[in-house]
Amino acid sequence: MRNDNRMFKKILIANRGDVALRVLRASRDLGIPTVSVHSTADNDAMHVKLADESVCIGPPKSSESYLNVQALISAALVTGADAIHPGVGFLSENADFAEIVNAHAITFIGPSPEHIRTMGDKVAAKQAAKNVGLPLVPGSNGEVKNLTDAEKEADRIGYPVIIKAASGGGGRGMKVAATKKELSEAFSSARSEAKAAFGDDKVYLEKYLTNPRHIEVQVFADAHGNVVHLGERECSIQRRHQKLFEECPSPILSSEQRKRIGELSSQATKKLGYLGLGTIEYLYENDEFFFIEMNTRLQVEHPITEMVTGLDLVCEQIKIASGAKLNFEQQEILFKGHAIECRINAENSSTFLPSPGKIDTFHPPGGPGVRIDAIVYQGYKVSPFYDSLISKLIVYGKDRETCLLRTQRALEEFIIEPIDTSIELHKKLVCHKDVMSGNYSIKWLEETFLQNT
Ligand code: ADP
Repeated sequence: MRNDNRMFKKILIANRGDVALRVLRASRDLGIPTVSVHSTADNDAMHVKLADESVCIGPPKSSESYLNVQALISAALVTGADAIHPGVGFLSENADFAEIVNAHAITFIGPSPEHIRTMGDKVAAKQAAKNVGLPLVPGSNGEVKNLTDAEKEADRIGYPVIIKAASGGGGRGMKVAATKKELSEAFSSARSEAKAAFGDDKVYLEKYLTNPRHIEVQVFADAHGNVVHLGERECSIQRRHQKLFEECPSPILSSEQRKRIGELSSQATKKLGYLGLGTIEYLYENDEFFFIEMNTRLQVEHPITEMVTGLDLVCEQIKIASGAKLNFEQQEILFKGHAIECRINAENSSTFLPSPGKIDTFHPPGGPGVRIDAIVYQGYKVSPFYDSLISKLIVYGKDRETCLLRTQRALEEFIIEPIDTSIELHKKLVCHKDVMSGNYSIKWLEETFLQNT
């Protein structure tokens, strides 16, 4: 069926993996044809098989394919796509890419290049957040250029401190110093890691919070001045600063705290003049929220917000990018029930080593409240070239207890063989007493759970 009122003629999805599939499904649901792109390693990927068209944009190496701006723009021009969805990762937070897309009279499905640029530089992002009234983690006033300044700042802030890359992402380029003695080593290794990973050795300092939780707020704005928040997500279960298991809502916020941080986040978004979907990330400790960053794109964990609000965030994102008005107001957004996402990676549950290879058996769970966003199928070969996320298990329940029990049940049903996956880890996680009681912080997985299993 075709949608004659469709907002875009054709959307090119400049990504791979689960997000490419997610955007493809949303576009289809809106009646918009899709163009996928793929490297030669992804010939058999689902996002290629299910798209209306797919263009090969290069060899397996991401720098020559999924990050190849020229190839992506050419693919859009050749296929007549009038919009590009950048997905998550790759070029999704690259302001230059957004600018180039717009310069070709193609709509970049995301915020303005200026907002991407500001939020992509965490020093600038903190300043912008401060200007719109968000509380910051105590830290250096901007960039710290040398060790002497770092020592001064650390003395002022108080140890422990964390040295973070201004261009950081994916949990990389961060080093903790518990004492002045540790600072020199941490400072130089954070800088060289930042330079190697992001081509930019700009770093800054923050107070290292000892036992915070990671709570983030989903915000959404149209081009007509309307802004809403879609509640929070709790993402404290992390390994190496990377999220593994997320829940919506957070198990520990009161309705008053939830309202406070939601309203603060949407007010800040409005003051920023932001457009589209965004996530404001906070650390939360002792009843206080501290801004850490704003992600100017869709998040991997967005489905749990979809389950609880009943909204399709990707469809809404596409509509807003085409100039539509938000068709709901804050008070119309109903938060109902509880949702959990387990990230299923192709990796060993104990060693965390990647486990690429062919899948002989794929049996996803089913039944009420279970959603699988998977990129794999029987006979699919998990490639060693890209990140290891192969499936997301998203579970809904009318309350948290129902949701936890249902997640346990779904994990028991889930079979992916013979490669190693994190299903085994999640099975243990979800019935752990601290997860059941919601009593965990960002340190919990590494310092408690993994030490004792
Ligand atoms: P990235 O962009 O690399 O994901 P973030 O700034 O979002 O970096 O931080 C990622 C994670 O690192 C957080 O969820 C938290 O676990 C940890 N972290 C970051 N800043 C601090 C801090 N000041 N104190 C303690 N932990 C922190």
